[in-house]
Amino acid sequence: MDCIFCKIVAGEIPTSKVYEDEHVLAFKDIHPQAPVHVLVIPKTHIESVDKLDDATAELAAKALAAIPKAAREMGLTEGYRVITNVGRHGCQSVFHLHFHVLGGKQLPERMS
Ligand code: AMP
Repeated sequence: MDCIFCKIVAGEIPTSKVYEDEHVLAFKDIHPQAPVHVLVIPKTHIESVDKLDDATAELAAKALAAIPKAAREMGLTEGYRVITNVGRHGCQSVFHLHFHVLGGKQLPERMS
């Protein structure tokens, strides 16, 4: 499968790792949009939130549970924003489920 995040999981593409466990990987976004910008992904390929079902929701939950660990690792003591883009209108560009974790400054109130 030609998925850049699967290649990162497989160690075929280098990345700046923030957190890893059996099911989840968190790494720094290559084009950060905030002082801290981390991507948290399930290691298993799931296209997006829109493709979640009862079977795969558990993997998404493991990725969600890793977010506070990645946030602590990055020193995000004052809060942060979690975003997941879905499909064309959501401007998703990598079709492997990922949660953006943005912080390190006061973020704007508006999200769109
Ligand atoms: P999205 O547009 O929501 O699908 O987010 C994809 C994100 O992946 C973007 O913020 C990209 O900057 C990031 N990205 C793409 N390739 C890499 C990579 N090799 N390492 C780290 N982040 C990446």
